[in-house]
Amino acid sequence: MTAPAPAAVAASPERFPHRDLLGIEGLTAEQIGYLLDKSDSYVAQNRQVDKRSALLRGRTLVNLFFESSTRTRTSFELAGKRLGADVINMSAEGSSIKKGETLIDTAMTLNAMHPDVLVVRHQESGAVSLLAQKVSCAVINAGDGSHEHPTQALLDAVTIRRRKGRLRGLVVAICGDILHSRVARSNIHLLNIMGARVRVIAPPTLLPTAASQLGVEVFHDMRKGLAGCDIVMMLRLQSERMQGSFVPSISEYFHFYGLDTEKLAYAKPDAMVMHPGPMNRGVEIDTEIADDISRSAIAEQVEMGVAVRMAVLDALSARLPNFAPAAH
Ligand code: ASP
Repeated sequence: MTAPAPAAVAASPERFPHRDLLGIEGLTAEQIGYLLDKSDSYVAQNRQVDKRSALLRGRTLVNLFFESSTRTRTSFELAGKRLGADVINMSAEGSSIKKGETLIDTAMTLNAMHPDVLVVRHQESGAVSLLAQKVSCAVINAGDGSHEHPTQALLDAVTIRRRKGRLRGLVVAICGDILHSRVARSNIHLLNIMGARVRVIAPPTLLPTAASQLGVEVFHDMRKGLAGCDIVMMLRLQSERMQGSFVPSISEYFHFYGLDTEKLAYAKPDAMVMHPGPMNRGVEIDTEIADDISRSAIAEQVEMGVAVRMAVLDALSARLPNFAPAAH
């Protein structure tokens, strides 16, 4: 028999007073804690035979993706459907964006169809916030350029909290292409707000110029940066955002910055390895570690992704407009 799901945390416009989720920056520890608690109850719901509820029945969620995605788009689709919403997927391929329509015109067109939630991924930092100003529904940032990817940081936090029991005081090393990574930026904000100690480890070419102003300790040497840490978060080289060469060669990059058993031995013996995906095996992470379920939480991160996206939709549902638009 499956255990009953823990009591759901009721959606409260006071506890999450936002129409949109555009980033982690600007959220409070209480608001993040509220989303993480809600996610826990959805993890339990998702492990039951019947995973559905009717919270978003009659609502429409549109996934609008201008960049490719596997995990984020699928999990928003599942999350919306499990909460009873109608879900439409739109990608740049096969839409009028290919015919030269601007982001704002596409958004205005979709807005005229009265969606309740738009989930948007775009290659430009700031594009999702701009779009949110033009539409009347809730907007969730599913990744904008190298700026933010808030649901990724939330799912990482749920994964850590469930394995380690807390976030406060943990030492988290984020390793690799920090410069181009929205995952790094959202995680740095969230972990700092929640009282973890954040280190970044990267070659100087893959760090933002003012990295130390992000409230992190900066390391260029993997072994020194990993020493004594609780969590090792690996990042992909974001070659689609690179103009020119940022690393001498892939084999040299793996030699210095790829996570293998020898380098991981510098972290705590029970250190947990994470990766947001997609992984490039043999570039930033060795296959042996990626597949070692006693060390790697990569599959668990994907599971948490669905629960977190349900939690975010649930939290935003408290402020969704409840009116029928005037007939013309
Ligand atoms: N999937 C993550 C993102 O969209 C990480 C990555 O692409 O490397 O940012």
